[in-house]
Amino acid sequence: MASAAPPRLSVVIPVYNEEAGLPALFARLYPALDALSESYEVIFVDDGSRDASAALLREQFQRRPDVTRVVLFNANYGQHMAIIGGFERCRGDRVVTLDADLQNPPEEIGKLLAAMDAGHDYVGGVRRQREDSWWRRAASRAMNALRERLTRIVMTDQGCMLRAYSREIVAACAASHEVSTFIPALAYTFAARPTEVEVAHEERAAGVSKYSLYKLIRLNFDLVTGFSLVPLQLFSMFGMLVSALSLATYVAIIVYRLFFAEWRGALHVLWDRDILTFFLIGMVLFGLGLIGEYVGRIYQQVWQRPRFMVRTVLERDDGDAAGGAGAPPR
Ligand code: UDP
Ligand code: MG
Repeated sequence: MASAAPPRLSVVIPVYNEEAGLPALFARLYPALDALSESYEVIFVDDGSRDASAALLREQFQRRPDVTRVVLFNANYGQHMAIIGGFERCRGDRVVTLDADLQNPPEEIGKLLAAMDAGHDYVGGVRRQREDSWWRRAASRAMNALRERLTRIVMTDQGCMLRAYSREIVAACAASHEVSTFIPALAYTFAARPTEVEVAHEERAAGVSKYSLYKLIRLNFDLVTGFSLVPLQLFSMFGMLVSALSLATYVAIIVYRLFFAEWRGALHVLWDRDILTFFLIGMVLFGLGLIGEYVGRIYQQVWQRPRFMVRTVLERDDGDAAGGAGAPPR
């Protein structure tokens, strides 16, 4: 096993039902990486695709076995678990993540690496001009702002997956044992010198987004509850505030009844017990749901099940990587 030196760069790409876009990805990714003139490996993680993605990855592995490795999951575990699957196996000392749909142009990888060479251990991409629907952009902006307040994670563009991490950060993420997580945020918690660079963003080359509105809402819940207890604390604060307000109102009403009974009309206009009750019931249900989010996370952790199952790994063993007859230049 101790033959070939590890590559300097690992590129991890999660793939889920991307058959329509994969050929275009291969056609752009490999030339872009070859142009960097440093040793690299590409690790595709097939997240249980039900289309021809796995077959296409297999073909690509046969075409470039020197720099390609493919991890095939046996079911769909989600983009972030797929990235972890790649993290567990990558060998480079700098690791770049990228989407399979060409929304993150592979030609931009050099920019991230330049920032790493400048001494940063975490480089986040920020999409210069985002090519997504308007509601996705508006929702992202709102969630970015909320997340920044609730967690201490600073990310200008949480949705941008074009990011680079040091080997140490990647190892820490892989060792984290979280069942549902969000890699850019998890990695950020381990970063000593994070930075961000602007990168281009393109429209999806082919196929459709794998994220429905529901999945996006789930993701954002994970992002907040996975990294912060502030929502729970806010809830107790809200409870205290409501109690204090009720007490003050109670005192005010008593005073009013004793001394200013002729103001009755004004009070009737302002006071609507039914609406207030519904509001509070809503808040209580929301609070219960919120506690449920945390309990659910704890429950998942208690199961201690494997986070995903790998069906096959396609890789050339290090033995022949050292001296394969037709080994291409790198
Ligand atoms: N993806 C995945 N598993 C999933 C959903 C998505 O591996 O369950 C991959 C997908 O193939 C793509 C990346 O994650 O490479 C981002 O997904 P997508 O482009 O659909 O998300 P969007 O760009 O719309 O946020
Ligand atoms: Mg995409």
